Amino acid sequence: MVTFSRNVFIPLTNACRNRCAYCGFRSDEHRLMKPEEVKALLSKAKGASEALFTFGERPDVYEDVRAKLRKMGYSNFLEFVRDMNELAVRMGFLPHTNAGVLSYDELKMLKSWNASMGLMLEQAVELECHASSPGKKPEVRIRTIKDAGKLRIPFTTGILVGIGETHYDRLYSLEVIADIHENYGHIQEVIVQGFSPKKGTPMENWNPPSEEELLRVVKDARMILPKDVTIQIPPNLVSDVYPFIKAGARDLGGISEVTPDYINPEHPWPSVRDLKASLRGEFILKERLPIYPKFVKLGWFSDEISNLINRLADVEGFRCSNI
Ligand code: SF4
Repeated sequence: MVTFSRNVFIPLTNACRNRCAYCGFRSDEHRLMKPEEVKALLSKAKGASEALFTFGERPDVYEDVRAKLRKMGYSNFLEFVRDMNELAVRMGFLPHTNAGVLSYDELKMLKSWNASMGLMLEQAVELECHASSPGKKPEVRIRTIKDAGKLRIPFTTGILVGIGETHYDRLYSLEVIADIHENYGHIQEVIVQGFSPKKGTPMENWNPPSEEELLRVVKDARMILPKDVTIQIPPNLVSDVYPFIKAGARDLGGISEVTPDYINPEHPWPSVRDLKASLRGEFILKERLPIYPKFVKLGWFSDEISNLINRLADVEGFRCSNI
C-alpha cells in the first residue's frame, strides 16, 4: 500500500530569520496572510483533510512583521499560528504545522490544535549553505524533534539531499533520526527530498542530485530507519515515483487541488489519477490523514481535535472514504 493526503497549503508568511543559500521562498519583502485570506483559502479546499501550515522561521524578529501582528491583536507570531490552526479545525481541517525550531513550551502550545507537526532535519552536520541560518544548526533541530517526541506529537522529518553533504553525512543523518525514533517513537515519516535549484539564490547554478542518487538514499533510508517509520518521496520532485516505491518509499506526501507547492512552485502536483497510474497496478493508493493511522489508534492527539479526527478517520485510522 502507498499513502498520500489531500491538503491545502497555507504559507502564513515568507519572512524568515534564516537565509538558507538554496531558498527561493523567503523574501525581504515580508508578506503576512490575514485571517480572512486563510479562511478564503480553506473555503476553497473542500476535498482536503489537511491544512498544511508552512512558513518562515521566527518571522517576528522583524519589526514590520511585529507591527502587522499587533494590528491584528497578536503579541507574537506563534499566537497567530495557534489561532489559524484553530480556525482550520473549526472549518473541518486537521492542521500540520511546520514552524521551524521551537521550544518545548511552544510545541506544547501548538500541539493542542495540530494533528501532526514537522521539521526537516535536512542534515545532521554543519553545512556552508546554512552559514546564515541559526535555525539550521543540527543541535537545535535535533532538540526540537526530541521535544516533540517527549510531547507525543506525531512527527514528520526528513533529509534534504544535495546541499553540500557527503554520502556519509546522509547515512549519519538517517542514523540520528532512527536513534531519536528508537527513544521517543513519534516519527511517522521521513521525507527524502532532493535539492532543487532556484533562480536568484546563491545556489542557483548547483546541480540537483540525480534520481539514481536519490534512489540510493531511499534504499539506505529503508535499511537504517525502523520499520514503523514510513519513507516519503515528494511526487512533484521526481519524474516517476515507481522506482522509489520499489526501493522502499511508501508515502507520497500531501498533494493539493487548490494550492501550489509554495516551496517548489515550478513543480506542479500530479493528480491523484496520475499517482494511481504511476503505481502500475502493483500497489494500492490509499488516502490518509496528516496523522498516521498508528497514532490515530494510539490516541496521540488532543481533546481539541479529537471530535474531528473521529469524524475523519475510518476504523483503521485512514481517511474515511465516505466523506
Ligand atoms: S529554507 Fe526555510 S528556514 Fe531556510 S530561509 Fe527558506 S524559509 Fe527560512
